[in-house]
Amino acid sequence: MLEAPRLPLREVELPRPELGPGQVRLRVLACGVCRTDLHISDGELPEPKLPLVLGHEIVGTVIEGGRTFAPGARVGVPWLGWTCGTCRYCTTGRENLCDEARFTGYHLDGGYAEEAVADERFCFPIPESYPDVQAAPLLCAGLIGYRSLVRAGDAERIGLYGFGAAGHIVAQVAHSRGRRVFAFTRPGDDAAQALALRLGAVWAGDSAARPPEELDAAIIFAPAGELVPAALRAVRKGGSVICAGIHMSDIPSFPYELLWGERTVCSVANLTRRDGAELLGLAPEVPIHTEVEVFPLGEAEHALDRLRAGEIHGAAVLRM
Ligand SMILES: [Zn+2]
Ligand SMILES: [Zn+2]
Repeated sequence: MLEAPRLPLREVELPRPELGPGQVRLRVLACGVCRTDLHISDGELPEPKLPLVLGHEIVGTVIEGGRTFAPGARVGVPWLGWTCGTCRYCTTGRENLCDEARFTGYHLDGGYAEEAVADERFCFPIPESYPDVQAAPLLCAGLIGYRSLVRAGDAERIGLYGFGAAGHIVAQVAHSRGRRVFAFTRPGDDAAQALALRLGAVWAGDSAARPPEELDAAIIFAPAGELVPAALRAVRKGGSVICAGIHMSDIPSFPYELLWGERTVCSVANLTRRDGAELLGLAPEVPIHTEVEVFPLGEAEHALDRLRAGEIHGAAVLRM
């Protein structure tokens, strides 16, 4: 439990919440550790529910409640935990932007726990072929990566800035579609660069480096604002730079000529349930193989520390 930002997580016993209509109680099997959890616990995102159970990449089995899933069914719970269904965004296929949206592990208690409660309308069946710990990173890292890739349109040469949980998943999807991936990592992160090449990237290098050829699009996963002008420098005329993180340091000012030539900078926020259905549908076909480092629940704080230090290759996952 996070009692306040910047305090270490504490192991506590909580009363079992009453289920509301349409809610399911889950036995949590695994929960991914996302960079967003770091931003919440470091106080970089405003007004989390407090105290809070973090975690929005939950894989669990249904214990009781709801009508959609039979007890024992294995489901995933993503970041998008509830939407109003009536605002201008919800009614136009953009529920990811809902004004009233509530997010798992931020406004709602999440999955760093033995049990969790979720709205059944926002739970996805998990493809059978995936072990629990390998499925968990698909539920946020995979989804935001997929949404970013869709936003990149038909770009053939795609730069990925930051090659962690999201990058290593989207690289596999992009590669399977015949796109060419250029992976940018923290300077000197040889392990991440080796992973990128193993997953089909045609080039891997430091984030400050220029790629060997122009890019059609760049997706920025790392929370570093200085990567925006760097990525604009790397994309061709008409290309786009897509910012996929929920939080980023300030973007430094840059000469207009970097944007000139109909280059675009945009962000990708959250997910829709349609993104979830699409990604989980194609994951076994690609097939996406997630690289995971597994921690017991009691070591959640340690997992966050390793993520903060850039020591995780692929994705960190808690196993209950
Ligand atoms: Zn709404
Ligand atoms: Zn996340």
